[in-house]
Amino acid sequence: MSEVYKKLENIVKEKYISNSIYVRHAYSRNVDPILQGVPDIVIRPKDAQEIAEILKIANIENIPVTPRGGGDCEFGGSKPIGDGGIVLDMKRMNEIIKLDQENLIVTVEAGISWGKLNEYLCHYDLYTGCMGPGSGMTAAVGGSISHHSVGGGGCAKYGACTNQLVSLEVVLPTGEIIETGSQANKYSKFPFNRFGNGPDLAGLFCGDNGIFGVKTKVSLQIFPRPPFAAYKTFQLPRKERVISAKIMNEIRQKGIDVYDVMYMMDLLVRLGSEKGMFPFWENLKKKRGVIFYTIEANSEKELEEKVKQLDEIMLNNKTEELNSEIADGNIARWHYAEQGHWQFYHNLWGVSHCMEPLTAECFSPIDSYPEVLNDIDQWDMEHNEDMQKIFNIAKTRPIAGSGPIVLVDGNNVEITCGFTTIGSYFNGENHEFLKELNLKLWKSLLERVTKHGVQWYMMGDYMSRLMVDMGAYPEHYYNFMKSIKQSLDPKMILSRGKFNFWGK
Ligand SMILES: Cc1cc2nc3c(=O)[nH]c(=O)nc-3n(C[C@H](O)[C@H](O)[C@H](O)COP(=O)(O)OP(=O)(O)OC[C@H]3O[C@@H](n4cnc5c(N)ncnc54)[C@H](O)[C@@H]3O)c2cc1C
Repeated sequence: MSEVYKKLENIVKEKYISNSIYVRHAYSRNVDPILQGVPDIVIRPKDAQEIAEILKIANIENIPVTPRGGGDCEFGGSKPIGDGGIVLDMKRMNEIIKLDQENLIVTVEAGISWGKLNEYLCHYDLYTGCMGPGSGMTAAVGGSISHHSVGGGGCAKYGACTNQLVSLEVVLPTGEIIETGSQANKYSKFPFNRFGNGPDLAGLFCGDNGIFGVKTKVSLQIFPRPPFAAYKTFQLPRKERVISAKIMNEIRQKGIDVYDVMYMMDLLVRLGSEKGMFPFWENLKKKRGVIFYTIEANSEKELEEKVKQLDEIMLNNKTEELNSEIADGNIARWHYAEQGHWQFYHNLWGVSHCMEPLTAECFSPIDSYPEVLNDIDQWDMEHNEDMQKIFNIAKTRPIAGSGPIVLVDGNNVEITCGFTTIGSYFNGENHEFLKELNLKLWKSLLERVTKHGVQWYMMGDYMSRLMVDMGAYPEHYYNFMKSIKQSLDPKMILSRGKFNFWGK
């Protein structure tokens, strides 16, 4: 056992550190089938103090450290880039620290999942508003703040999960511990506001993809769950992409505070029904795209009025309403009332036998997304020859396209785009050429979508470097970001290599 390992073991105790090959490999991947980086050591710290001590040793020994929450990053962000280093598994830090019902703020350890947090809050008729990402059963609050996650419900009304952030406790890459927002005044008794006491330094850590510090404590605004809600699902007419965007725009123009609006394209409806994922749509005569809305209210009268306004928009756009039960195809009811928002993304990715996603998530203005989707179709056709090579092995054609298009705050949507594929090991054989082919296709698709001017919010290993490689960052912006990194983390210990910030 090395000297360094012994020093680290002294900090967390034997049970919470490992360099066994099984454990190291278990932490070497995220959800994509190709990116891998095997750490030397995996550590499960219990608090900020332990993390501070670990980071101090990592600085002395020049060992890169990668924080990991639920490990659900789609771009290899919570495993090392290249082999080696330490993975810091945050999931042991999963407790609720304080529920402040008076001020509607909850403080949690950063490794807690959205599922566990909201299960706790629902006993008080409270919720987090934005319910985190679609992976909320496993994704950690700290991981999601590091991504600016949206998608797990409520983001049309509440925005991304960073919108409700009040305060963070962060261990800086060199081991100092800070608290942001109202906690930057040492006389403040509890976290109550994000902004003030100088610039919004919490913002530095929102969407930082784990490069500026390790989040250990998170305080979030929470909200009383309104007692009334309506949820309706509609089939779209032809030209569904443009019509769905028009509907979302009209909802925003009229200032209706919808909780969720989601468009699922015809391909998803057809495939999901064929593969048994959406049994309630099996009997639909035409497998067209669907759009649904969820709206909340504090009284029946208020709900009625809002529903009337929304239905008018839907019907003016020639949609056809499905009946109200889940069995009738009303996915909106399942999504809200049965917490389907944390369930169906997982299944979506398994919808094609044996295929895995090479995907990405970005924000785009509402009126641009039909064009982005059309261009992904065009890209797919242009790459048919390569897609056929994957088909020849998997016997299933990769699907390029988008998952659900979700209305987020402002006039924006979240687009999940990419294609499904297989890793190079398939059915007991190694098809080495697939490694290169998958990377080539992924790069080409992501570059294409980037050129539509979208905003990637989950950057991980791959997208953070691709943005730099393709010169998408304006020079002064990139240099500004790099100089912050250099002053916070002179040895580039934390998440080394992301955004091409390589260490010494
Ligand atoms: C089935 C599925 C559905 C998904 N749906 C969505 C969706 O709807 N919306 C969406 O936004 N994303 C979605 N994702 C992607 C991902 O799950 C989310 O972005 C999620 O918020 C990541 O949280 P995590 O805890 O899993 O993060 P991880 O993958 O563990 O980490 C994410 C990043 O944050 C860093 N990090 C983790 N914890 C900390 C910490 N405490 N301090 C500092 N840095 C840290 C990591 O180094 C990494 O760069 C989905 C993924 C899957 C697999």
